[in-house]
Amino acid sequence: MSELDPTLDRAYRTVLDRNPGEAEFHQAVREVLDSLNRVVAARPEYAAGSIIERLCEPERQLMFRVPWTDDKGNVHINRGFRVEFNSALGPYKGGLRFHPTVNLGIVKFLGFEQIFKNALTGLPIGGGKGGSDFDPKGRSDAEIMRFCQSFMTELYRHIGEYTDVPAGDIGVGGREIGYLFGQYKRITNRYESGVLTGKGLAYGGSQVRTEATGYGTVFFTREMLATKNRSLSGRRVIVSGSGNVAIYAAQKATQLGAQVVACSDSGGYVVDEDGLDLDLLKQIKEVERGRLTDYAAQRPNATHHAEGSVWSVPCEIALPCATQNELHAEDAKSLVANGVLAVAEGANMPCTPDAVAIFADNDVLFAPGKAANAGGVATSALEMQQNASRDSWHFSHTEERLDQIMIDLHDRCATAADTFGEPGNYVAGANISSFVQVADAMLALGVI
Ligand code: NDP
Repeated sequence: MSELDPTLDRAYRTVLDRNPGEAEFHQAVREVLDSLNRVVAARPEYAAGSIIERLCEPERQLMFRVPWTDDKGNVHINRGFRVEFNSALGPYKGGLRFHPTVNLGIVKFLGFEQIFKNALTGLPIGGGKGGSDFDPKGRSDAEIMRFCQSFMTELYRHIGEYTDVPAGDIGVGGREIGYLFGQYKRITNRYESGVLTGKGLAYGGSQVRTEATGYGTVFFTREMLATKNRSLSGRRVIVSGSGNVAIYAAQKATQLGAQVVACSDSGGYVVDEDGLDLDLLKQIKEVERGRLTDYAAQRPNATHHAEGSVWSVPCEIALPCATQNELHAEDAKSLVANGVLAVAEGANMPCTPDAVAIFADNDVLFAPGKAANAGGVATSALEMQQNASRDSWHFSHTEERLDQIMIDLHDRCATAADTFGEPGNYVAGANISSFVQVADAMLALGVI
């Protein structure tokens, strides 16, 4: 970590004092501020307008009770969250996460990241995030539906196509978005397609939204490799996780000629030297909601490892696509020792700061999540465009739009890094270019 300019340091200390115990939020703020010394020195109006302090304080934070009844008639109480962080560029936009680890600090870290990610897409969307500490694992469809309906019974009054547009994240996929949209429609008596993204194709969803985050991560990786005259073809790739982002990152990497040899879930990891069988993986994870042990049982050459780290498996390209702080310094060292060329974060903040420093010290191409995984929210914004014009685009057209957005996004990060004297540093490039865009909009809108 670098030493912070006094303006940034003051703002960071305020964040620590005001948000005790929210380690992930502190980490996300610090990671952005670390890139901004030269920016605040060059643009004193940011300090004069207290832009950093305003950016670090959410515009609105909602926390609510979510009561629901399980199939046996027991009543459960979960906690719901929505942090509407910044709307300088457009309506709040960001996913909902259902996972037992969700708390206010996690939602704030994700919402803060989302502001910059959304700015990077070049589309008119602000940043927000939400979720619940509800654990969907092992729950029946009927239980998931009742939970989603109860969650929306409070959330509906805070969202809308011009206000706040949630989408999916960990534990929230097409099934949950369907139940949430159904309840919103029922309560409001409005068929307001643009209020949620990640919808099914039958009721206003967009082609490529399911694939978008994983595909986008691989498009960004392709662009990074191209700066070194390299390609994905023939490369050995590892993804972590085996959910939405991981599966479609693996699919696009495979389509571009790479071989994806390992993935993980919270129960361990599988290595499949023949290359992951993605049809089987989808069947197990998306349809049967099963485990990777089921995958290994059906593939003669695959091995399942309940202990250890997926990052100990040698690869040239590493795509962490599971969750925050899942790739530590030790993992980074072993990836470097095994000759990794590029790391792109499909998940949000999966690499710890120590791990990121190791990649930088060893000239490993590194794409931070706010840039590499922005394809998901970008395609959500394309879904909003289609809903607004009551149109629906073909798969190939939508994928081309996504690809171009990721190319532009890569170039924006690379150019900002060059301009501020840090060529090849995508962390600095992503933070600087998105911060300047949001800060300028905030200045223009006055003190609000
Ligand atoms: P999913 O719920 O579809 O999949 C998550 C995967 O990560 C699962 O394989 C899960 O394993 C694993 N995982 C989750 N938590 C842990 C944990 N604590 N330890 C180990 N493994 C874990 O989520 P997504 O694929 O949608 O999201 C993955 C990441 O990508 C998140 O960081 C999310 O914020 C980020 N992201 C997602 C976007 C999207 O469009 N979906 C957009 C941008 C970023 P298990 O099933 O065993 O829990």
